[in-house]
Parts: sequence; structure tokens; C-alpha cells
Amino acid sequence: MPKRVRTFCPFCKKHSLHEVEKVKRGKASSLSRIARQKKKQKARIGNSGKFSKVPGGDKPTKKVFLRYTCVECKKSHTREGFRASRFELVET
Ligand SMILES: [Zn+2]
Repeated sequence: MPKRVRTFCPFCKKHSLHEVEKVKRGKASSLSRIARQKKKQKARIGNSGKFSKVPGGDKPTKKVFLRYTCVECKKSHTREGFRASRFELVET
């Protein structure tokens, strides 16, 4: 993955040069949602449904989120990336 890439800037409304930055995102929000569901589940009687399962381990690949910072307007927008076992940004 190149460090600088030409892509669409939603602020300039045109294609321009962007600096790519790797960001971690999405995990914390989904965890809190599950935690809320679990709390609700405790009030009920009987089988706790899918929460009776033993939680599995981490997935072998992580989803990569990329932050694109526009070189022209200095604004950044985030875009969901892809699952990759290995992700590197290289200087071009
Ligand atoms: Zn821009």
C-alpha cells in the first residue's frame, strides 16, 4: 500500500493527493453494544441464548481502516479498508 495515493476528496469534491494513515476503529463500539445486551439478558430466566456460548478467540486477520488526509485542504476522511493479515504503508 503506498503512503500517498490519489483519491476523491469529499471536501474539495475532486480527486487530489492524499496521505494514507492506518487507524484502528470499530471494535470498542461493538463491544459496548454486546455488553448492553448481556446486561439485559441477565434479567431473564433460563437459557441465555447466544451468550451461553464460550467466546472464541481473536480472528486471524484484522480489518484495516484507513484515514485519508487531503494534501490540498488538509482535511481527512476515514474509509473502511479490508481484512489483511499483514498491512504496511510504504514510502513511494
Ligand atoms: Zn481536499
